[in-house]
Amino acid sequence: MMKTEVDVLIVGGGLVSASLACALGQAGVRVCMVEASPLRTDLPPGYDERSIALAQGSQRIFSGLGLWPTLQDRVCPIHTIHVSDRGHFGFTRLRREEEGVPALGYVATARVLGKALLDRIDELEGVEVLAPAELIDFQVGEAEVEADLLVDNNPVHCTAKLLVAADGAQSSIRTQLGIETTQRDYGQTAVIANVTTDRPHANVAYERFTDTGPMALLPMTEQRSALVWTVRSEQSEALMALDDAEFLARLQTRFGYRLGRFLKVGKRQAYPLFLLRARESVRPRMALIGNAIHTLHPVAGQGFNLGLRDVATLAEVILDARRNGRDIGGSSVLERYADWRQADQQRVAFFTDSMVRLFGQTLPPVTWIRDAGMLALDICPPAKRWFGRLTMGRAGRLPRLACGLDLS
Ligand SMILES: Cc1cc2nc3c(=O)[nH]c(=O)nc-3n(C[C@H](O)[C@H](O)[C@H](O)COP(=O)(O)OP(=O)(O)OC[C@H]3O[C@@H](n4cnc5c(N)ncnc54)[C@H](O)[C@@H]3O)c2cc1C
Repeated sequence: MMKTEVDVLIVGGGLVSASLACALGQAGVRVCMVEASPLRTDLPPGYDERSIALAQGSQRIFSGLGLWPTLQDRVCPIHTIHVSDRGHFGFTRLRREEEGVPALGYVATARVLGKALLDRIDELEGVEVLAPAELIDFQVGEAEVEADLLVDNNPVHCTAKLLVAADGAQSSIRTQLGIETTQRDYGQTAVIANVTTDRPHANVAYERFTDTGPMALLPMTEQRSALVWTVRSEQSEALMALDDAEFLARLQTRFGYRLGRFLKVGKRQAYPLFLLRARESVRPRMALIGNAIHTLHPVAGQGFNLGLRDVATLAEVILDARRNGRDIGGSSVLERYADWRQADQQRVAFFTDSMVRLFGQTLPPVTWIRDAGMLALDICPPAKRWFGRLTMGRAGRLPRLACGLDLS
């Protein structure tokens, strides 16, 4: 049987895992990343055409990982965020000038981000990628984790100091560990597609709350916009089945003419939406990151950004421990990670969940109060600063990478 010995075994090869492999690999940590699906395909959930709004803090993390020079020409900066309540009077805007930043965030497709990460990983000697491969079983020992993998139907035995579960919302590792979760099915599905309009997007990201759920149009390169259209789950099949002309006509009625006429729509994909939060994020010699701990509604585009801050924090505590000659899978190291991440994970999950619930209400006086709140946010600088910090991923105590510092 083939054997491999590394410092960190990462299970999952999505965007969050690949970011951790990059962060650790370039600091000289030996990593093995195991992904069940073939990599470098355009298949969901990993590296598809779905657009990801990167917060400003995530841009800093990618800079710290040396990826920004590759990414900067393939992402579209957001200069303004325009939030409105369809059929009501409330709206609010966030502008880059008010925040004193070159961009409030950036939009990239998961495919572009994934390719940049995998290309970088290919250059790192200490990172081994096994895909398609699966974790079959693992045992946690005193000083190591022993894992049995299946790579192309061949058994491989892997020994590591730490096992990181980055295996997504349906994490089998989390289930095997008996970690409890809280879950809420939103009864909504996000239909996503890239669209072309006859008016330039002018780098404005639109978030519109509607009676079936939020709708976002994010600016993309080549003057396209990324549509995230949330509908009640029972309506999604019919929306997916429409031909392109009917779909565009329906979208036009729903969104209006702020971007002119909708001319073209690319491939559509549907994602059922739910909230999932794991009650624990560490166990002896094990850490959870990304969607395996928190799967959020895509309103406000926070899920990957939050996962990237898990990555930056876990990489920092691992490297600090290594520098001080401590065991990287030791309980004090993992507890430091879990404690540090708790407030941010709680805050962002609460924020996105509250937005979905608040804007899901259709009856006055709730609608009046929330619209008055949006207008107040628009004209009240301290409230706007708080909203800006949260949206840009700059709230709370940040890891070094998210402050624009490198890990060394
Ligand atoms: C419609 C939509 C729009 C979104 N927009 C945004 C946005 O604008 N901004 C933002 O920040 N976030 C956004 N998100 C959220 C973001 O996409 C996710 O948070 C992020 O992709 C999660 O990455 P992950 O690596 O944690 O999990 P995943 O991408 O789910 O990756 C987990 C991987 O683990 C693999 N795996 C599972 N089990 C095993 C096993 N036993 N062995 C080996 N491999 C295994 C899976 O094959 C998968 O590739 C959006 C999400 C949706 C649905």
